Amino acid sequence: MGKPTGFKEYERKTEPYRDVEERLADYGEIYTPHDEAHLRIQGARCMDCGVPFCQSDTGCPVDNLIPEWNDLVYKGRWRDAIDRLHKTNNFPEFTGRVCPSPCEGACVLGVIEPAVTIKNIECSIIDRAFDEGWVSAHVPGQRTGKKVAIAGSGPAGLAAAAQLNSAGHMVTVYERADRFGGLLMYGIPNMKLDKGIIDRRVQLLRDEGITFIANADVGNNIDVKQLMAENDALLLATGATIPRDLPIDGRNSKGIYMAMEFLTANTKSLLDSRLEDGNYISARDKHIVVIGGGDTGTDCISTALRHGCKSVVNFELMPKPPAQRAEDNPWPAWPHIFRVDYGHQEARLRQGEDPRAYCVLSKAFISDADGNVTGLESVEVEWQCDEETGQWKMDEVAGSEKEWKADLVLLAMGFLGPEHIISDALGIEYDERSNYKADYGSHATSIEGVYAAGDCRRGQSLVVWGINEGRESAREIDRYLMGSTTL
Ligand SMILES: Cc1cc2nc3c(=O)[nH]c(=O)nc-3n(C[C@H](O)[C@H](O)[C@H](O)COP(=O)(O)OP(=O)(O)OC[C@H]3O[C@@H](n4cnc5c(N)ncnc54)[C@H](O)[C@@H]3O)c2cc1C
Ligand code: SF4
Repeated sequence: MGKPTGFKEYERKTEPYRDVEERLADYGEIYTPHDEAHLRIQGARCMDCGVPFCQSDTGCPVDNLIPEWNDLVYKGRWRDAIDRLHKTNNFPEFTGRVCPSPCEGACVLGVIEPAVTIKNIECSIIDRAFDEGWVSAHVPGQRTGKKVAIAGSGPAGLAAAAQLNSAGHMVTVYERADRFGGLLMYGIPNMKLDKGIIDRRVQLLRDEGITFIANADVGNNIDVKQLMAENDALLLATGATIPRDLPIDGRNSKGIYMAMEFLTANTKSLLDSRLEDGNYISARDKHIVVIGGGDTGTDCISTALRHGCKSVVNFELMPKPPAQRAEDNPWPAWPHIFRVDYGHQEARLRQGEDPRAYCVLSKAFISDADGNVTGLESVEVEWQCDEETGQWKMDEVAGSEKEWKADLVLLAMGFLGPEHIISDALGIEYDERSNYKADYGSHATSIEGVYAAGDCRRGQSLVVWGINEGRESAREIDRYLMGSTTL
């Protein structure tokens, strides 16, 4: 433990984001450069707990050795810190930027004081390591002669590839998009995760011996049975890509899109041509309604603001969360509290108010004579907990009907599960939510030699869970191929 009295002496201070007005003018990352002196002080706040909740159970899904590297940062031992960090996390440069940090929700200091700034510290360790040239490709000394194919290059597929390659297997990653990274590339906007950071890691993985094939749609232009015949194991890491729709009156109006159509096209056009090719859905001079909150909703808000929209409103079906933990949401569970994310800050500056409207149920889309969406009808809802069943029930509030102006509507209501093209071809079983059926920890599907990891197995989740499942499934594939595992 670096400084026994650190948590009493220093206050939590997170690294600031860039000035809101300044960052709204570009698509660059929202973060400011790391300040070493500041981070060392924040590292000194860690109490090196006997039972570090931050790194286990309700805390970090990849079991990051958080107290160890907090201490190393406090002492200025950055090289040792990256070695400890890479032991559990293949891609801290992704989680250090986009993870909601369940570790901070579980931090013991959080019982009496604001938690340690774990996420900032993680990000600074890996950024420093890249700057110093400490991150290099490690080509395995020996090859096993076994071949593994991975469908999907999101965090789950990439983590599994890294682990399996390090065990000496020959790994090929097939990705149907034109760029690698899954939702890291084409879901999360550049403002939150610069795409060069993903390309840098993919290049390192290539240098380590992994083969990457883009525009390779397994089940369509790549025959999945042939893939199985040519490989010793197949990992499905294809994500939860079927979005939840909103089949209400007027849904066929023009100007209503899935959030992913909007976000993917924007990032692709940004990377291809700095948005000069015009191949994206523009929010410029439009009134925008985003239906559904979470990260996806926030990313739509921030992108629409950069396009120069006239206004943006974000409908949330649930009530506004409390400012502090509710009684039924105690530490160390993830705190369900009201947060102001980067997109909300930006909308507040542009419009003078928070864009979120709570307890709003969309009833119908309104359109003009040409079929273009012009607005939305909604009603307010009330939530009641049924004392007998403990289930929450939603009732419409009489007389609360309202009309909203909208020239562009973005549906950000989550995802239903994976597509079934590969799984149907192989006869893989599904669970009750239509995900590929495979137990957590074993990751084996109902077909021998075929494994599943990430959102296609667990349903829509987080980058850090994708990394966790990629690592876990790699361990089981290694055991299947070799009889025991070193991973
Ligand atoms: C807009 C948005 C923002 C998000 N923001 C955050 C955030 O800030 N923090 C966070 O932790 N999580 C965030 N998430 C969730 C997170 O991105 C996902 O949980 C995570 O990426 C899942 O990883 P995965 O590897 O399982 O799947 P994915 O990242 O979805 O990757 C699956 C890949 O498989 C490919 N694929 C699918 N089918 C085939 C096929 N047949 N052949 C070949 N390739 C195929 C897809 O093209 C895709 O590239 C966000 C999600 C969205 C949609
Ligand atoms: S729970 Fe918080 S204070 Fe305790 S070891 Fe982890 S980061 Fe440090």
